[in-house]
Amino acid sequence: MRVVLLGPPGAGKGTHAVDLSKEYGIPHISTGDMLRAAVKAQTEIGIKAKGFMDKGELVPDAVVVSIIRERLAGKDCKNGFLLDGFPRNNAQAKMLDEMLAGIGAPVQAVVYLETSNATIIRRLTNRRVCKSCGATYNVLTMPPKKEGVCDLCGGALYQRTDDLESTIMNRLKVYADQTADLIDYYKKKGLLKVVNGDLDRSAAYKEFQKTLASIS
Ligand code: AMP
Repeated sequence: MRVVLLGPPGAGKGTHAVDLSKEYGIPHISTGDMLRAAVKAQTEIGIKAKGFMDKGELVPDAVVVSIIRERLAGKDCKNGFLLDGFPRNNAQAKMLDEMLAGIGAPVQAVVYLETSNATIIRRLTNRRVCKSCGATYNVLTMPPKKEGVCDLCGGALYQRTDDLESTIMNRLKVYADQTADLIDYYKKKGLLKVVNGDLDRSAAYKEFQKTLASIS
């Protein structure tokens, strides 16, 4: 099953992708997670990406596409994948189409998590992430058992610098200006499915399962 998850930051793409990845046995591929790992490791890509990420801007297409190309060539992607945060604009979507056409394995569905700005801001300002394993929490709706500590690995939780309210506004603008067009792009291809991102986690997940049942 080859699926793209589309939606604004805070829609819940990453949260649902973790659960879907377990249920369907396919990897969750998040360009944001890969870029954050590169920043942490201070690789050449990480150093290039950091300035863009801190401002909530998109990292240049060439950088992101090279990461995705290498990742999709992984053996674990043979049975499919869940793309989270990629593509982010039309140019990336076209490059993805070309890449997958080359291996005869096109995207089968694009699930758009339609989410209101009020929900997004509430989720992002309350989001906390584990420094060690990347697990995400919400201090209001999905808190860790012990404050500031990851339930899964005991790592320290932190607030992403781009989850501060001033940067969130810029990310929403970047999404509206550059990413929202992809809804139309995939609608025209007949691939778009919509899930209500304002629902709570388990209700939205049920919608996901129903939606994906038709293509798996
Ligand atoms: P995310 O975790 O998906 O919210 O991504 C965090 C940040 O990483 C974004 O605000 C961008 O700076 C960068 N990023 C992630 N995915 C992409 C992409 N496909 N294209 C460009 N920049 C990206």
